[in-house]
Amino acid sequence: TSSTAKSYNITLLPGDGIGPEVISVAKNVLNLAGSIEGIEFKFNEMPMGGAALDLTGVPLPEETLTAAKQSDAVLLGAIGGYKWDKNEKHLKPETGLLHLRQGLKVFANLRPASVLPQLVDASTLKKEVAEGVDLMVVRELTGGIYFGKPRGFGTDENGQKIGFNTEVYAEYEIDRIARIAFETARKRSGKLCSVDKANVLEASMLWRERVTAISAEYPDVELSHMYVDNAAMQLVRNPKQFDTIVTNNIFGDILSDEASMITGSIGMLPSASLGASGPGLFEPIHGSAPDIAGQDKANPLATILSAAMLLKYGLGEVKAAERIELAVLDTLNEGFRTGDIHSAGNKLVGCEEMGEQVLKSVDTKT
Ligand code: ATP
Ligand code: MG
Repeated sequence: TSSTAKSYNITLLPGDGIGPEVISVAKNVLNLAGSIEGIEFKFNEMPMGGAALDLTGVPLPEETLTAAKQSDAVLLGAIGGYKWDKNEKHLKPETGLLHLRQGLKVFANLRPASVLPQLVDASTLKKEVAEGVDLMVVRELTGGIYFGKPRGFGTDENGQKIGFNTEVYAEYEIDRIARIAFETARKRSGKLCSVDKANVLEASMLWRERVTAISAEYPDVELSHMYVDNAAMQLVRNPKQFDTIVTNNIFGDILSDEASMITGSIGMLPSASLGASGPGLFEPIHGSAPDIAGQDKANPLATILSAAMLLKYGLGEVKAAERIELAVLDTLNEGFRTGDIHSAGNKLVGCEEMGEQVLKSVDTKT
């Protein structure tokens, strides 16, 4: 326990579906882990997504964005649901999330994928391949082919309709994501693999050139490069060879989903979105799961682990983060499982009970 009490402002965006259930649990876990480590949290709960649409007519109210920007970190539950699926684009919950990311200027998306020893059976891969996997995909989030111009539809010289997009990266965009990736690798095992298609694409050639240049600032991190087609193959052949992976927007989109399927546990996976300065955005990778909302069935561990990422990557409170991570492992060791990860011989519990068990472990493991 530290002697000087630190205080942080956290914006909570529970959102829709199971969002409020998992956020409520994660908030309690943050509070307890913080208090043990001499950290105080001031929580500010704001409407977002479909909940905000029903309340205010927009998916991201001005007050919510302002509160998020002024806080030290943002913890989001999940957004969306059948109810708003037919809305016009600017009135969709998902559009609110896009605007939140833009407003917070977060350009790096961190997605860990680890196969916990207690959940090896959930993996889509063979036990020998899955066991011990512990990797992190750092995806560039605001550049590349999803945003590059020119884009659109047209007609070619034969009168055929065409669709086109442009892969563009500026040096500064690569440099800043590279720095976040090297910092991340440094907090982990010190190994970074940069994934590109530098044998074919100019944007990838620049990517490789800049990542290599930035590596001079991080002599303690071991850098390697891999082509994306090979990386996609290696991820299922031998995922244990990876620690931290950094890649562009579209490759990261694909590889992070591939990596999460290795673990096979959607209710377990957290994520972080970081910018150069300002608050980061932390959220589980799963959606609002409307099929189980309001039934106390949701797995809160992805959100609890997102809270741990908030502490580690958002606030630099590594000890409190590790306390939470250990409590999650401890709870799984004791056999507690929600429906999504349940198998014979374990204790089936609901969202609230799982939260209580994690709280107990946070408290007793010192
Ligand atoms: P989105 O489009 O918002 O990403 P989705 O419809 O693609 O959402 P999810 O909402 O993540 O996907 O749900 C997919 C399935 O996984 C559903 O059957 C849901 O019940 C289940 N699921 C998702 N998250 C959890 C969780 N935390 N605990 C238990 N089950 C979950
Ligand atoms: Mg959906």
